[in-house]
Amino acid sequence: MKQISERVQLLNEQSANNDGKYVLYWMQMFKRTTHNHALNFAIEQANERRLPLVVYEGLKFYYPWASDRFHTYILEGVEEKRRAFEKLGIKYVFYLQKNEQSPKQIVAEIAKDAVLIVTDDFPCFIIPKHNQAIVKRAKIPIYAVDSNGVIPMSRFEKEEFAARTIRPKITRLLPDYFVKFKEEKIIVKAGNLKVDCPDTEVNAKNIHDLVGQCAIDHSVKASGIYHGGTANGRKRLKNFVEKILPEYDTSRNKPDIDGSSRLSSYLHFGFLSPLEIAFAVQDADAPPAAKEAYLEELIVRRELSYNLTRHNPKYDSIEALPDWVQKTMREHVNDERPEIFSLEELEFGKTYDELWNASQREMILTGEMHNYVRMLWGKLVIQWTRNYEEAFAVLEHLNNKYCLDGRNPNSYAGILWCFGKHDRPWMERPIFGKMRYMTTGSTGRKFDSKKYIEWTKSLEENSALPEIKGRS
Ligand SMILES: Cc1cc2nc3c(=O)[nH]c(=O)nc-3n(C[C@H](O)[C@H](O)[C@H](O)COP(=O)(O)OP(=O)(O)OC[C@H]3O[C@@H](n4cnc5c(N)ncnc54)[C@H](O)[C@@H]3O)c2cc1C
Repeated sequence: MKQISERVQLLNEQSANNDGKYVLYWMQMFKRTTHNHALNFAIEQANERRLPLVVYEGLKFYYPWASDRFHTYILEGVEEKRRAFEKLGIKYVFYLQKNEQSPKQIVAEIAKDAVLIVTDDFPCFIIPKHNQAIVKRAKIPIYAVDSNGVIPMSRFEKEEFAARTIRPKITRLLPDYFVKFKEEKIIVKAGNLKVDCPDTEVNAKNIHDLVGQCAIDHSVKASGIYHGGTANGRKRLKNFVEKILPEYDTSRNKPDIDGSSRLSSYLHFGFLSPLEIAFAVQDADAPPAAKEAYLEELIVRRELSYNLTRHNPKYDSIEALPDWVQKTMREHVNDERPEIFSLEELEFGKTYDELWNASQREMILTGEMHNYVRMLWGKLVIQWTRNYEEAFAVLEHLNNKYCLDGRNPNSYAGILWCFGKHDRPWMERPIFGKMRYMTTGSTGRKFDSKKYIEWTKSLEENSALPEIKGRS
């Protein structure tokens, strides 16, 4: 693996196939047609060779936690991409692999006629494994491009300890990277280029049926509130900057109102780029304190998470926790837990804690959980499970099974934060040791928790799932 520029890594040492008919961009995580460094790099490669570009996006049925929710959200972004790529003169192929009988190894097949492959460098979940697997199969160069954050991940050479250590570096680097994105244009248009690969027709009318035909978990229903795709993300972004951002610095911690951007799932699936969002926020008519508070989350906190998963191979376990947490866990692992709940009791919100149950309900019914209750949600599971490993496993499972923004570096950084990652030691107490402690009493007093609980109950009663309007 060789870093050939700040955002581009060459994953193998193969020579280009000079008889190839096109450059292939295997789109995995940056599911957008603008502000996409991987797409730009692929266009440059195609232009250098005066070749057309083929973009391949596949959706398989057997990735962990695959369900109606994530499939629907991804499929909702397909038709708009097909239209946008057609206008750009780029061939786009989308293939939905429904079950065991469906054709497999499509990337390797399309790669046979490609000069080289460009793909996404996403430091988490199944993507690093996908990239390792294609390296084993393909006999042409494979480039992985980082379009995750405003600042390239390679600019942070090691794992950062906390927000306070990455923040000054980000402040120093930001002027070089918080600049308008230059979109590359393809020179040789794909026209009627034929690609030997199944192509699934997806449109608003057939998504429900397509999802129903896949061998995935049908118990996790599509979200009635969040719809996938860049256009839907931009609609939400516009509403956010115009109506919510001006008070974001005070409204963000209030789960009972519509006070945050709720853009994390659009960021996770790459429908929106953080750069596009950062510019929309910077250019908005809002007080500087609100903009600063938002950019702190979008850039500092988010890029700290990506730094964690890029540099710490143990990011998906409690082994990623710092020494002071390991020590305090050893000292408190045998502390008596006040109550142990089974996975099922937790999953279906059957604890004695009304606020916790409500947060679980929000997640199951909408595909999202508000950040403020999410912290409490994680903390309480630590005291309701037999040990820290089990707590981590339960949190990872529930977060990634139900949240549209799950399976992301933020998922792991967020869960590990509940155990003290990126935090500091606090006053020692049972079970938590020196980890920061949160209680329902103190958390629930900081916002109208009754209103939040009632709102989640109304979601349950109304299966049509109303839009969130002031969460009333
Ligand atoms: C236990 C736990 C689990 C979490 N799991 C996830 C997850 O699966 N996916 C996910 O994206 N975030 C996760 N977070 C972080 C945070 O809760 C969400 O990013 C936030 O709730 C998303 O809502 P929003 O888009 O309205 O955020 P906003 O407040 O509008 O923030 C803007 C953006 O900044 C980023 N951001 C906000 N808070 C954080 C944070 N604490 N750490 C890193 N980035 C942040 C997100 O990309 C977010 O969209 C988790 C936090 C905890 C405590």
